[in-house]
Amino acid sequence: MTSPPRHAALSRLESDGPELLIGGVPIRRLAARVGSTPFYAYDRAALRARIEPLRAALPEGVLIHYAMKANPMPALVGYMATLVDGLDVASGGELLVALDTGMTPADISFAGPGKHAHEIVQAVAAGIVINIESAREIELAARAAEQVGNIARLAVRVNPAFELKSSGMQMGGGAKAFGIDEERVPGVIRQIRAAGLDFEGLHIFAGSQNLRVDAVCEAQRQAIETGLRLSGEADVLLRSLNIGGGFGIPYFPGDQPLDVTEVGQRLGGVLTEHAPALDDTAIIVELGRYLVGEAGYYVCRITERKESRNEVFLVTDGGLHHHLAASGNFGQVIRKNYPVVVGTRMDAPPGDPVDVVGPLCTPLDLLARRMPLPHAEAGDLVVVLQSGAYGLSASPTRFLGHPPPREVLV
Ligand SMILES: *Cc1c(COP(=O)(O)O)cnc(C)c1O
Repeated sequence: MTSPPRHAALSRLESDGPELLIGGVPIRRLAARVGSTPFYAYDRAALRARIEPLRAALPEGVLIHYAMKANPMPALVGYMATLVDGLDVASGGELLVALDTGMTPADISFAGPGKHAHEIVQAVAAGIVINIESAREIELAARAAEQVGNIARLAVRVNPAFELKSSGMQMGGGAKAFGIDEERVPGVIRQIRAAGLDFEGLHIFAGSQNLRVDAVCEAQRQAIETGLRLSGEADVLLRSLNIGGGFGIPYFPGDQPLDVTEVGQRLGGVLTEHAPALDDTAIIVELGRYLVGEAGYYVCRITERKESRNEVFLVTDGGLHHHLAASGNFGQVIRKNYPVVVGTRMDAPPGDPVDVVGPLCTPLDLLARRMPLPHAEAGDLVVVLQSGAYGLSASPTRFLGHPPPREVLV
């Protein structure tokens, strides 16, 4: 039997004998401390270790925002708030978590199509930046400003004419629900200023999960040039220009990490080219997955080792109801395995391929398919890596009525 590729290369795993270490804690002890399986664990030191080199790679002065929809766990967002320059929220609920961190409201921004009137009131009352995605949102912001007696800080989210190539999820270019079509933006900026509202700048987010330096850099260049052109046409200065993010992380066989040093160097080149025009503009990159994805682990316990017609199934207490993305049902076209290890058998060699499945009564509840893992039994802990982004909060926890997993920051 040919051995299929398992998953993306694993560089950062630490273990002590048979046990995987998470944040330096052996996994059995961590499971005992959490009190029940399954659970998500996020490694504080890994979060910090991710941001420091990124900051060093980006040109001086470029601001890093955390897009908290990638992982909205309050303790994690609170820790991220000490490491980044701003937070991006996508709902009134996320806004409350962001404010709880103590982040300066002017460094919080709110994007998302179809913002509800009460969310816009919340945002204006809090004094955060609203990334406007329609003319309706401008009217709601004007009304909210009057109602709560606060200025409305508005940036305009642009639906650019360009696309982020080879992106996992495209969110710009062509006809989109996100942002305002580029050609209409100068008019919208004039409308904001005519209404006496505060114009902050532009937000251009083209897509997600990109591992190609060329594609990311091209999108950044286009975002900067588009931003400058639009502000020129509207005859305004940009206090901030949010050039999006889209930095990906490796999940699957053949995926290579994004070279952020190269991205930073090329971005530096583009910024230098446009230096005088951008002197008073804060350049922001907003990242979710790249900042938190690799720092997260989903840990579940094998309930039963089961054989069926010569295939082995490790049946666990965790599954797609907690981790839809790892099951392959969150935006994947062809199902591929997330990296999975047996966290209590780290020193054992891989054996014959097995399937790791969850307890749900559906064939979609699959955490690993035909993966050559070490021999494991009931009681062993299976760990899905790269699980810090779009994990629990992107999963259908009510499906089949099992209890939700705990989440800890280690
Ligand atoms: C989802 C989203 C992000 C985060 O995307 P990642 O791929 O997790 O980095 C950033 N900005 C906006 C506007 C988003 O909608």
